[in-house]
Amino acid sequence: MTAKEKTPASLPHIGILGGGQLGRMLLQAAANYPVIVHVLENEEECPAAHLCHHFTRGDIRDFDSVYNFGKSLDAITIEIENVNVEALEKLETEGVKIYPRPSVLRTIKNKILQKEYYREHQIPTAGFIVTHNLGELEKALDFLPAVHKIGEGGYDGKGVQLLRTKEELSKGFEAPAVLEKMVFIQTEIAQMVAINEKGETALYPPVEMLFDPDLNLLDYQLCPAELSTQALYRVEAIALSVVRNFKSPGIFAVEMFVDKNGDVLVNETAPRVHNSGHHTIEAHYCSQFDMLWRIMLGYPLGNTDAILPSIMVNIIGAEGFSGEVHYQGLEEVLKIDNAFVHLYGKKQTKPGRKMGHVTILSKEKQDLLHKSNKVKRTLLPKT
Ligand code: ADP
Repeated sequence: MTAKEKTPASLPHIGILGGGQLGRMLLQAAANYPVIVHVLENEEECPAAHLCHHFTRGDIRDFDSVYNFGKSLDAITIEIENVNVEALEKLETEGVKIYPRPSVLRTIKNKILQKEYYREHQIPTAGFIVTHNLGELEKALDFLPAVHKIGEGGYDGKGVQLLRTKEELSKGFEAPAVLEKMVFIQTEIAQMVAINEKGETALYPPVEMLFDPDLNLLDYQLCPAELSTQALYRVEAIALSVVRNFKSPGIFAVEMFVDKNGDVLVNETAPRVHNSGHHTIEAHYCSQFDMLWRIMLGYPLGNTDAILPSIMVNIIGAEGFSGEVHYQGLEEVLKIDNAFVHLYGKKQTKPGRKMGHVTILSKEKQDLLHKSNKVKRTLLPKT
C-alpha cells in the first residue's frame, strides 16, 4: 500500500527532503493546513521526525531513496540543497511538483554554475574566475585579495577560504572552485522573496546579518536592515531579478553585500526556507514557513509586513561541551519580554552546532541589541 492510500485521498501529500530544524519549523506551520506531510531523513531522532505524518528513513543524496520516497507524492520541497537532483528531475517529468524546480537546485548547488548564472543574467556579483586545481590558483596572483570557494560540498563557511597574499594561496582548494574578488563589505544582508506558480511575488523586509568571526556562523540578525532608501530599492530589484530568472515557484533567500561604496552585490542564494527568515515566525504576519505552504498548496501569498522590528539570535553549542544537552539559563531568558525561544530538539550538543534560536521583538533597536546580548550570554547549551 502506498502512503497516499493510507489517508484521505483528497488531501495533498507533500514531502520534505531533510529533517533538521528547517523541516521542523515547516511542519509546525503545516499543522494549520489540510496537507499530509512526509519527511525523508537518515537520522531517526532528527528534529522533524515526530512532527510529520510519515517518516521515511533514507539518504536524501541517494537516487533510489529520493525517487522511491517521492513517486507517490504530489509535491516535494527541500530544507537543504545537498539532495539527489537526478531523482527530483525524474520525479518532475512524472508530474511531481518540486519546490524549487530541480533546474534551480542544479545551478545553486554548484558555486561555479551559480556565479555563471548571475553573470549570464547581468546580476551584480563580485568578479570571479574559475580554478580547477592549485596549479591554476597559483597563476591567479593578480586576482588577490580574493575568496576561494569550493564548487560543491561547502556549507556554513566550510569550503570558503580568504586568500590575501601569495603565501596564502596554498590554503586554496585542490578542486573545481570559484576565485572571487574580495568585497570590502559594509553590511551583509538577506532578502527573502516568495514567488508562486503565477509568478506573483512577495518580499520580506531585508535583514542585516552579523557573523561570529571565529565560527563563521550567523551570530545574530536584525530586521529591518539599516539601509538607505536607494540601497533598499537596489536590493529589492536585484533579489527580484535573481528569483524571476529562475522561473520557479518557491521561497528564496538572496544573500547580498553592500560594499563600502554603497554598491549591492549578490553573494549567494538559498532556494528554500532559510536561517535568515526565522524571525518571520513571530515578527511578521506571515512567516516564511507559512508562505511556502501557501505557495505549494496554491493559496494566496501572505502578508510579509513586520509586526515589530526584531532580532534573532542563534543558540549555538557552547565551546568545551559535547554530549547530551542541558540548557542553562532557559528560565531566565523566558522572563524577557517578547523573547520567543525555539529549541530544535537535538539531543546532543557540540561546539558550534545550531541548537535553537531566540527571536526578540521591540520598537527600539537599543532594546533589541541589549536583550539579544543578554540571551547570548544566558542561554547556553551545555552537558
Ligand atoms: P557559505 O555558503 O559557506 O555560507 P559564503 O559564500 O556565504 O559561504 O561565504 C561565507 C562568508 O564569507 C560570507 O558571509 C562573507 O562574510 C565572507 N565572504 C564571502 N564572499 C566574500 C567576498 N567575495 N568578499 C569578502 N567576503 C566574502
